[in-house]
Amino acid sequence: MASSTVDDTGLYATVRVQDPRLYEMLIAEVDRQSNCLEMIASENHVSRAVLEAVGSVLTNKYAEGYPSKRYYGGCTFVDQVEDLARERAKQLFGCDHVNVQPHSGSQANMAVYMAVLEPGDTILSLDLAHGGHLSHGLKANFSGRFYNVVHYGVSRQTETIDMDDIRRMAHEHKPKLLVTGASAYPRTIDFATFGQIAREVGAYHMADIAHIAGLIVAGLHPSPIPHADFVTTTTHKTLRGPRAGMIMCKAEHAKALDSRIFPGIQGGPLMHVIAGKAAAFGEALKPEFKVYQRRIVENAKTLADALIALGYRLVSGGTDNHLMLVDLRQVHPDITGKDAEGWLEQAGIIVNKNMIPFDERKPTLTSGLRIGTPAVTTRGLGPAEIKTVAGWIHEVISSHGHEQTAANVRSQVLEMCGRFPLPH
Ligand SMILES: *Cc1c(COP(=O)(O)O)cnc(C)c1O
Repeated sequence: MASSTVDDTGLYATVRVQDPRLYEMLIAEVDRQSNCLEMIASENHVSRAVLEAVGSVLTNKYAEGYPSKRYYGGCTFVDQVEDLARERAKQLFGCDHVNVQPHSGSQANMAVYMAVLEPGDTILSLDLAHGGHLSHGLKANFSGRFYNVVHYGVSRQTETIDMDDIRRMAHEHKPKLLVTGASAYPRTIDFATFGQIAREVGAYHMADIAHIAGLIVAGLHPSPIPHADFVTTTTHKTLRGPRAGMIMCKAEHAKALDSRIFPGIQGGPLMHVIAGKAAAFGEALKPEFKVYQRRIVENAKTLADALIALGYRLVSGGTDNHLMLVDLRQVHPDITGKDAEGWLEQAGIIVNKNMIPFDERKPTLTSGLRIGTPAVTTRGLGPAEIKTVAGWIHEVISSHGHEQTAANVRSQVLEMCGRFPLPH
C-alpha cells in the first residue's frame, strides 16, 4: 500500500539488506499500524525512545537474580537500568516494593499466586465472560487448572459489579485470594471496598490494573495501592511501555514475591525490555502524560456518547475509563461481534469482538465489540475526529459488510491517519 513511503525513512535498513523476506513482513506491519485506526483497548503505540531501548544491546545480557545480587558477571550497567526502572515505578505508583522482571501480565499474576497460594486453594475473581482475564481462572489457563476458582460477575440489572454480592460470595466461599481488576470493564472499580472485604474474610487481595495503570498514574482512577497486598500490571496498555508485566507489593511480601519470579517461574530477565520500562516510566512521570490520560478518557466519553446517539446500547450505559462495550443487538440483532470486527477491519478500523455480560452467543461469535481510545489518542485524535470515527463505525456495520462502503471509509481513514502520524 503506502510501504514505499515507509521505505524512504530507512527503517530496519540492515534487515532490509540481510533478510528481505523478514523485512517485507516488518514493513508491512509498520504500514498497517500507520494507516489503520487502532481501537483495541489493550493496545497502544510506544514512543521512539521505548522502541530504541527495547531494540538495544541489552538483549545480549544474562542477569539472573536482582541488582547487586546476580548469578552472572558484567551486570554493572544492567543493574543501573533495573534500579532506574524500579525507582521510577515506585515514584509513579507510591508502592513499597516493585518487581519489574515479569515477562508479561500473566507471568506477574502467576508469581503472585505462587507467592501466596498452594495448588487447590480458592481464588475469587471476575468471570472472563463478564470482563475478567484468562489468568484470573479460566479452566484452560494454568490459573484454572491449579486453583479452585470461584467467579463473581456483574449484576444483570446494572451490568456493574455489585459490592454486596461480592461480600456475600467472599463470606460464603472464604477465598485465600481475592482478585480484582478486569480486561473489559468500562466502569470504576471500588478497590477500597474490595480490600475491606478481603480483610473481613482473611483473604489476600491482588489488584490487576493491566488496563487502567495509566489512568491510575494520572489520578483518573482510584489507586489500589493502599488497599491491596499485591498490584500487578502490564506495562504496554494505557501505561504505553514495552510488552511486559510488573508487580508491586507491600514490603512484607517483597522477599516471597521476588523469589517466585526468579527462580520460581522465570529465568533471566529481559533486560532490554526492562530498559524499555525505564524509558516508559520516565515518560509517565512527565506532566504531559497526565494530559494524555485525560484525553484518552475524554475521547472515550465522546465516542460513547456518539454511539449512544446513533442508537447503540453500551454495557452499563457508558464508560468511566478508556474503553466501552457495544451491545450490537439493540441496533443489529442479526450481526455478531465477529462480523462487525471483520467489516471494520476492511475499513481500517481495528477493534475486537467481545462477549457482553450474559451473552447468548459463543466467544468465537459474540454479540459485542470492545472499543478503546488509548492508541488513537496517542496519535493525536481529539473529540472532533472521534465523532467522525463513530459515524464511520455505524456506517460500516449498518452496511452489513458492503464492500464499497468499507472502501469509502477506508480512504477517509487513510486520510485521517496521514494527518495524525505515529510517534515512530
Ligand atoms: C492484558 C491483561 C493481562 C495480561 O496480559 P499479558 O498478555 O499476559 O501480558 C492480565 N490481566 C488483565 C486484567 C489484562 O487485561
